[in-house]
Amino acid sequence: MSSATHSNIDSILQENRKFEPPAEFSRHAHIKSLEEYEKLYKQAADDPEGFWAEVAKELHWFKPWTKVLEWDAPWAKWFVGAEANLSYNCLDRHVLGGRRHKAAFIWEGEPGDVRTLTYQQLWLEVQKFANVLLDLGIKKGDRVAIYMGMVPELPVAMLACARIGATHSVIFGGFSANALVDRITDQQAVAVITQDGSWRRGNEVKLKVAVDEALEKCPTVKHVVVYKRTASAINMKEGRDHWWHDLMAKAKDHCPAEPLDAEHPLYILYTSGTTGKPKGIVHTTGGYAVGTYYTTKMVFDLKEDDTFWCTADIGWVTGHSYIVYGPLQTGATTVMYEGAPNFPDLDRFWALVAKHKVTVFYTAPTAIRTFMKWGAEYPNRHDMSTLRLLGSVGEPINPEAWMWYRDVIGKDRCPIVDTWWQTETGAIMISPLPGAIATKPGSATKPLPGIIAEVVTRAGEKVPLGSGGFLVIKKPWPSMMRTIYGDPERYKHQYWSDIPGVYFTGDGAREDKDGYFWIMGRVDDVLNVSGHRLSTMEIESALVAHPKVAEAAVVGRPDEMKGQAVSAFVTLESGSKPSPELKEELRAWVAKEIGSMAKPDDIRFTDTLPKTRSGKIMRRLLRELATGGDVKGDTTTLEDFTVIAKLKEDEQ
Ligand code: ATP
Ligand code: MG
Repeated sequence: MSSATHSNIDSILQENRKFEPPAEFSRHAHIKSLEEYEKLYKQAADDPEGFWAEVAKELHWFKPWTKVLEWDAPWAKWFVGAEANLSYNCLDRHVLGGRRHKAAFIWEGEPGDVRTLTYQQLWLEVQKFANVLLDLGIKKGDRVAIYMGMVPELPVAMLACARIGATHSVIFGGFSANALVDRITDQQAVAVITQDGSWRRGNEVKLKVAVDEALEKCPTVKHVVVYKRTASAINMKEGRDHWWHDLMAKAKDHCPAEPLDAEHPLYILYTSGTTGKPKGIVHTTGGYAVGTYYTTKMVFDLKEDDTFWCTADIGWVTGHSYIVYGPLQTGATTVMYEGAPNFPDLDRFWALVAKHKVTVFYTAPTAIRTFMKWGAEYPNRHDMSTLRLLGSVGEPINPEAWMWYRDVIGKDRCPIVDTWWQTETGAIMISPLPGAIATKPGSATKPLPGIIAEVVTRAGEKVPLGSGGFLVIKKPWPSMMRTIYGDPERYKHQYWSDIPGVYFTGDGAREDKDGYFWIMGRVDDVLNVSGHRLSTMEIESALVAHPKVAEAAVVGRPDEMKGQAVSAFVTLESGSKPSPELKEELRAWVAKEIGSMAKPDDIRFTDTLPKTRSGKIMRRLLRELATGGDVKGDTTTLEDFTVIAKLKEDEQ
């Protein structure tokens, strides 16, 4: 861990705006008032096991647990002795329980084709594909890699694995062959499920070509199943490769869900790689089911007639928990979209919201900042009056982006849930309950019932309210990761060793006097400027608040006088031009907004920032650039490799 763990973090960002939940919203919400939340929170804090057991009883279990939690820190077992199946909870439960003909997925392809799958149709597809897997000799406990675009067959494949107890590992469909090799090798997958190609911005992403290249180095893979999407010419290797439709035509219809131990590994998913080499996070059957079910229902306040759209790719944990497992367990209707937000035009997302009458919309700050840059004219083209709730996840959301989201997308009417969580936590941890908790722009507000979060010093002592420190979780929770695949030592070391007795998130935060949490970004990114320890996110938020700035990334570089100097990389709103005067203006702006110690020493204008494939700013690469060195860190999850070269050119 970096020097960032030695002392507290200074907080310089002040935000005084506050928005109460609309009365009408609260009246219909699952949790209707702050008092109700507080009561529930206290009840869950006093008896977490009792609380989670009550939630778990809303789901189906083949066999009940004998003990809710067995905790031998840092090793957790939830719902000990119980048997369940996620596919059963997502499908059979609804088909048998009156939601047979309700839409599970409303899917839209990038070219505009639409498919609706009811719970019954999805259930039939999943059973058939589960039989396909069994017919190929894939067994409970085998690892199956899934490398697909955003087509309905992707959740079908995941649920089919879950149905027979094969552990799936979805690998984002934008990754290269090399990234595939790393992930397939790490987990020793026996099969890959893929497709010929997927559509992105009108072009074909050639998935099968990447699989062919990768498999030259992956001897464990015996079978490849290929779904036909683009119908482009591909190679099919005799004996190894099979067409999805051929196998489905031969498969039997009926496949009962296998009762699995609650701790049976459901999936392995690699983190985004924002801070370094991705880690294979392991999630299990029972606890993950309970965590995703509860948070989907409560945070998104889902009701029977909602249409929920989470814009994430299923290749990330957000898609696993809030496109597939959470919404399906709650019996919701979910929109799924295949392609890019700017195809054929910059209003595609809003066209989708209007067309499918989306009521709850969940996206990422990186997308919101992009929409801001494109301008309000695009959302304003569409009637989005069905929207009633908006969500954000993935990075700290800058208050100005939050306000734009509220005004332009939510028309000042929809509450915003800023949800803090991680691949490792499996489900949302800190977030407003929208009918109960007033929101403040940039704050994820309060921990959910059952989650004991605290901001502490390196030694694990609670910091005074208002000071920044290290965000930790003090008690185990059902959807927590169980280990890093193949590397239990790293699990213990990375999350449970730096700060004694608690789960260390790697993020900095502060808690204000109202008990609201403000996530300040990763502790590895914290700057040390003349003895002040500053969060990059706060300086970035000040920059983004300037009318000409679209996005900003701030990093430190070594400086003899100050310890670290503040380096800012800035992208401008369309229509604004870089100039030396603007640099001075921005420096003065930051000094005025948050104080002179945060004033950037240098500002570089750039067209794009280096981001992970999931859209997060990779400050560690910028830090290497700002220091004048070469980029040496892991770049396998970098979205656009040309960005680094461009940034270097800009330097000259
Ligand atoms: P890696 O762990 O490989 O570096 P990563 O941390 O980006 O990658 P994820 O698990 O996808 O991988 O992201 C979790 C992180 O995203 C959190 O630790 C936090 O830094 C950030 N994050 C997610 N949601 C929020 C939020 N609402 N507010 C602030 N930060 C958030
Ligand atoms: Mg992380």
